[in-house]
Amino acid sequence: MTFESLGLTPELLHAVKARQYAEPTTVQVQAIPAVSGGGDVLVLAQTGSGKTVAYTLPLLQRLQTEQGGAGKTRRVKILVLVPTRELSSQVGQTMEALAEHLPKPLKIAVIYGGASINPQMMHLRGGADVVISTPGRLLDLLDNNALQLSDVQTLVLDEADRLLDLGFADEIKRILALLPAHRQNLFFSATFPPAVKKLALTLLHEPVRIAISDIVANNPDIVQRAIQVESNKRTRLLAHLVREQQWGRVLVFVATRYASDTVAAKLQKAGIKAAAFNGDASQGARQQLLTDFKAGQLQVLVATDLAARGIDVEGLPAVVNYDLPRSADDYIHRIGRTGRAGASGVAISFILAEHELHFRLIEKRQGKRVLRETIAGYEPVMLAAAVDAATLPDTAPTGGIKGKRKSKKDKLRELAARTDQ
Ligand code: AMP
Repeated sequence: MTFESLGLTPELLHAVKARQYAEPTTVQVQAIPAVSGGGDVLVLAQTGSGKTVAYTLPLLQRLQTEQGGAGKTRRVKILVLVPTRELSSQVGQTMEALAEHLPKPLKIAVIYGGASINPQMMHLRGGADVVISTPGRLLDLLDNNALQLSDVQTLVLDEADRLLDLGFADEIKRILALLPAHRQNLFFSATFPPAVKKLALTLLHEPVRIAISDIVANNPDIVQRAIQVESNKRTRLLAHLVREQQWGRVLVFVATRYASDTVAAKLQKAGIKAAAFNGDASQGARQQLLTDFKAGQLQVLVATDLAARGIDVEGLPAVVNYDLPRSADDYIHRIGRTGRAGASGVAISFILAEHELHFRLIEKRQGKRVLRETIAGYEPVMLAAAVDAATLPDTAPTGGIKGKRKSKKDKLRELAARTDQ
């Protein structure tokens, strides 16, 4: 399948070529005709599937045919709601790049909270054709009469599951009430839990359904590895892997902000250019970290799931689950950060003995087993001891007097006590 066969205009094809997209991704092949068709569309696909381009191309194409003459106040025709500031910027950048060669220039406004509202209000003077926004700030701007939504033709909910996770249900409801009843709705979500389903049902009318949920799990470009290790050896193992594997960049996932700070600090101490990436950092600081990471000045970003949500780094060679994610869906999200768009990548999970069962559930959900490995020098004591215990004779050299022999448990305890932390 080629982009040409999807009926795109020469200007858009030019832009796609400039982005070096050789061919459309699966979600693009399916979603571009569906969005062009004008009806509602429901897409279940992860970040990394090419979903932004999938809705941007047909929407830009339509705007070209419908746009009014220059000089008039621009009316918002397309509204894209996103959960995070990072995603707002990323969608904006993608749209700007794809719209670059269009004969009728478009005005695209990127809006998010956590930054001063005044420049955003100034930017909205004279209107905009496309608004990409987080829900809360959009409502602030609407309250200030900085824009109006009565001409919106297409509403895009990007990462609808995250919008709800982040507690934007009420804001979305308020925004929906301000939109024209007759419009196209495009609904993108990586997961489909009941709350998301409910929102989709209220919003969508006879949607075209596209489900690409197994793409990441079955992506041959992502090599999944699972390394058994103990909790207190993980940071040293991570430092070892970063050095040994010579990854230019690696995104490491941890469970808490605290862990992201401490792991990043320990890596720095070990001489690795690492930084914590969590919600404690300001928007400006996070942008700077991303810029440094993309430029290769930072080798390791240690992130929480929430903060990492909007990170889109081309050609990320490795992702490490220092802590396992809570759900199989989050696992898919995380590992989908690597192996994008034809580039190969590795996704490594550290498996603590107590999380083995949890990882089995994740494997079950993605329908794929991952071989357990250990790394020499970082083997879990209990595992090494279990092997030893199984091979050591059960009797003490002085003869097998019942009650005096060391039990397997005793041997394990002794070994654990001897092994360094
Ligand atoms: P998304 O799923 O929108 O987060 O996009 C994931 C990444 O894939 C982005 O970095 C895009 O630039 C890239 N991408 C989108 N479409 C293509 C394509 N057809 N070929 C190669 N890369 C793509």
